[in-house]
Amino acid sequence: MRGWLVLLPLIISFAAFSAASKTLDIYVIDVEGGNATLFVSPSGESLLIDTGNGGNAAARDAGRIMAAMKDAGIQQLDHLITTHWHGDHFGGMPELASKVTIKEFIDHGDNVQPAQATDDFLKTYPQLYGKAKHTVVKPGDKIAISGLEWRIVTSAGEHIIAPIPGAGRPNPYCATFKPQEVDKSENAQSVGSHVTFGKFRVLHLGDLTWNKEFDLMCPQNRLGTVDLWIVSHHGQAISNSEVLAHAIQARAAIMNNGTRKGGQPDAMKIIHSAPGLEDLWQIHFSQLSGQEYTVPGMFIANTVDEPQNAMPVAPIQAPQPGPGATPAPVHNGAAYWIKVSAQQDGTFTVVNARNNFSKTYKPRT
Ligand SMILES: [Zn+2]
Ligand SMILES: [Zn+2]
Repeated sequence: MRGWLVLLPLIISFAAFSAASKTLDIYVIDVEGGNATLFVSPSGESLLIDTGNGGNAAARDAGRIMAAMKDAGIQQLDHLITTHWHGDHFGGMPELASKVTIKEFIDHGDNVQPAQATDDFLKTYPQLYGKAKHTVVKPGDKIAISGLEWRIVTSAGEHIIAPIPGAGRPNPYCATFKPQEVDKSENAQSVGSHVTFGKFRVLHLGDLTWNKEFDLMCPQNRLGTVDLWIVSHHGQAISNSEVLAHAIQARAAIMNNGTRKGGQPDAMKIIHSAPGLEDLWQIHFSQLSGQEYTVPGMFIANTVDEPQNAMPVAPIQAPQPGPGATPAPVHNGAAYWIKVSAQQDGTFTVVNARNNFSKTYKPRT
């Protein structure tokens, strides 16, 4: 009997390992309104999209990424995509690269938005990838990961011309599209990924902005429909137009928003009315949503260090940035991810790590 008890943890971890080896696992990690999304294929090959924030937040965000890696049972990153040169996407990279082996660094190429911190970082970037592989991707490229079809659909302001196999029908939402101001920032340069695992499809376009969504999705819907959508740009309203959000007919969407970044009414009205969307999951309660626009708390992964007893019904407007602005509520304490486990037949399960609420989406018949 005693021998059995000693062996029990081994048996349990072996069972967990063999279960994990059949699914594509995706961790949407809380990096306080930045991005970090970890993909682990059934073979154990890994790809991280973005590394969260730098500066004082680098240790926190790199630590949260490493916690997800540990949960996934991986020791290194086989691929890292940096979607674009904004600090909430590349900031944690030096810290993470000092702790974890990264075998391939993928990006869209040169920065189009000069800024002191970015320029300083990019001088040191070649040292980070010096001993690894460095790949600049263009639309239509594939990233070789066994078991997955990983397609780059946008990069450096360009998009795929040929639709994804099976896609390419006329997009009915193009007719009513209203362009926003032209975005000359790095957001519009975002590396966008479309990933297929058996019948399961997931889309992650980084911070790609409104007018670029039109270029990609009109007049024909080059992406077709997906099962899971990682909401663009933290759920901000300068991305996530109907031509994207309504045309892809995602069943579940996950928004990597901050406590006061993303989730504002204009974005939420479009997402909540997306045809086919069964649930929106959020990394944070957002003050910009208020009760009026947010999802139930069971779909939200994180609160803040000093939680309020109640969230006001009305959304607030973000103050103008500047020295006098009230800071956003802080969350440096225990953080929770939203984890997705997908199967070849298209079934996928989403788990909120804060409350362990989970939901399984069976393939549509
Ligand atoms: Zn948080
Ligand atoms: Zn961002």
